[in-house]
Amino acid sequence: MVLKKFVESLSDKYSNSYTEGFTYSSDYELIIKLILSPRALEHKIEFLGNLIVSSYKDYKSLAMAPLDDIEEIIRPVGFFNQKAIRLKRAAFYISNTLDNKIPNTTYELMKIPGIGVKSARKYLSLRLNAEEIIIDTHFKRVLKRLNFISSNSKNSEIENWFKGLISQNIHSRSSNLISYFGKKICLNKKPKCEFCQYKRFCNFFSSVHNR
Ligand code: SF4
Repeated sequence: MVLKKFVESLSDKYSNSYTEGFTYSSDYELIIKLILSPRALEHKIEFLGNLIVSSYKDYKSLAMAPLDDIEEIIRPVGFFNQKAIRLKRAAFYISNTLDNKIPNTTYELMKIPGIGVKSARKYLSLRLNAEEIIIDTHFKRVLKRLNFISSNSKNSEIENWFKGLISQNIHSRSSNLISYFGKKICLNKKPKCEFCQYKRFCNFFSSVHNR
């Protein structure tokens, strides 16, 4: 299977059901949900992000909030204490240093506490329609299982390989579709192989079924 065909096939199958996993109606809400998102389930990001937005109306009020209160709100999410610190620091940095204006480059976005390269690219893709390759754990798992990349491939290598095979104007959508497939079907612990049409290309499936 070639990558382009795989992406086209995902697009045919999931273009109607595909979502970003959480909603947002402002930069503020998106930044909060991006900070909450590492290793978190989508419904928790959505619910707890909404609770933060309704509890603190802007960056300034979030920056001024007691850390204990933020922790209490987001306690159900993994690494809640680290994420509470990041939320508070990010809100302080955005309100004080950035004067509430979110930058439009990966480099500048990554200066915001809690925003790494993946979140920065996600932000640019969602808010500015930039074409970004968003490499997350789901994206890599799917590509490894389907033998597109090896288990020790570095992100920079994956990115260059991806750029060489997929048109730039569909980078965001293509990488998000692969990640979506990883979240919905090719799950980490119990992949739903019975619903998967790519079994014959899959290392994982053949290793489990040829034992
Ligand atoms: S066969 Fe199973 S493990 Fe392999 S790609 Fe499909 S869902 Fe993932």
